[in-house]
Amino acid sequence: MRVLVATEKPFAANAVKAIKEEIEKAGHELVLLEKYTELAQLLDAVKDVEAMIVRSDKITPEIMDAAPKLKIIVRAGAGYDSIDTAYAKEKGIIVENTPGQNANAVAELVLGLLVYAVRAFYNGKSGSELIGKKLGLLAFGNVGRNVARIAKGFGMDVYAYDAFCPANVIEEAGVHAVASQEALFELCNIVSLHIPATPETKQSINYALVNRLPKGGILVNTARKEVINEPELLKLMTEREDLKFVTDIKPDADADFAKLEGRYFSTPKKMGAQTAEANFNAGLAAAKQINAYFADGCTKFQVNK
Ligand code: NAD
Repeated sequence: MRVLVATEKPFAANAVKAIKEEIEKAGHELVLLEKYTELAQLLDAVKDVEAMIVRSDKITPEIMDAAPKLKIIVRAGAGYDSIDTAYAKEKGIIVENTPGQNANAVAELVLGLLVYAVRAFYNGKSGSELIGKKLGLLAFGNVGRNVARIAKGFGMDVYAYDAFCPANVIEEAGVHAVASQEALFELCNIVSLHIPATPETKQSINYALVNRLPKGGILVNTARKEVINEPELLKLMTEREDLKFVTDIKPDADADFAKLEGRYFSTPKKMGAQTAEANFNAGLAAAKQINAYFADGCTKFQVNK
């Protein structure tokens, strides 16, 4: 089989080496298309491959139509909103992600952003501590669970709401399960977003919800910018000067948020999963999943069933 690694933003060199070794070990051939700048390059590269590994690359119907042999696309990472999964399903193409491989990287960044926020963005003024504060996790998936583990080390009191994860699973991890996202915002000093971007969650972090945060509340977003209703959050933060917002995903209204001096910070680019470890682990996991699919039809990580 021919396996295409198509990455506008390439994997690290050691990750590419590991992916190549893994694919070739199973008797397949690796085709590499890195740093492509034109859609035409991608359309040409997909035309005779059976499998594809991508990162944040946008995979549209046009690209799938240009790939008549394509059986499986693996997104090396967690969020797969960059792939038209419904169209892939129509065409019988399996789409998988590599859950958990970058979760610790994102979780460590969440705590980094939080320390920065409570220490007044290192402006020399006195700040506060995280110990004893109530941290709310909106979704208890791979990232949420890692944030819980690290936050407990900081002595934080951790709460979570997840629409699909049973309360007993949350409680077994030493985290308080909360009955709704509204209750989570009301109860916690800090809420960290770990929901995927879906039709239900897009724009769901709005004025009414965030306004439930108690005085001095902090919102952390390392999920997707689409989950936040930016005009409503801006309006709220203009009215409530006690609130802070930190994120690794620059909002569209970055310039307007930046006017809220001392209460907003965004990393210059999406950085949650930007570690050597996450890059390597996600790439290698993608290669292993493709080998498993061709070896025995394993589709354990399929997201478009
Ligand atoms: P995951 O699939 O392991 O967990 C997602 C959780 O969200 C699941 O437990 C699911 O039950 C829950 N969920 C789904 N819809 C919900 C809803 N409407 N309300 C409440 N809970 C809901 O994913 P993950 O690895 O934890 O990652 C979470 C998200 O973070 C990803 O979808 C991705 O968009 C984002 N992410 C960002 C970066 C980054 O670089 N900043 C890196 C990795 C992931």
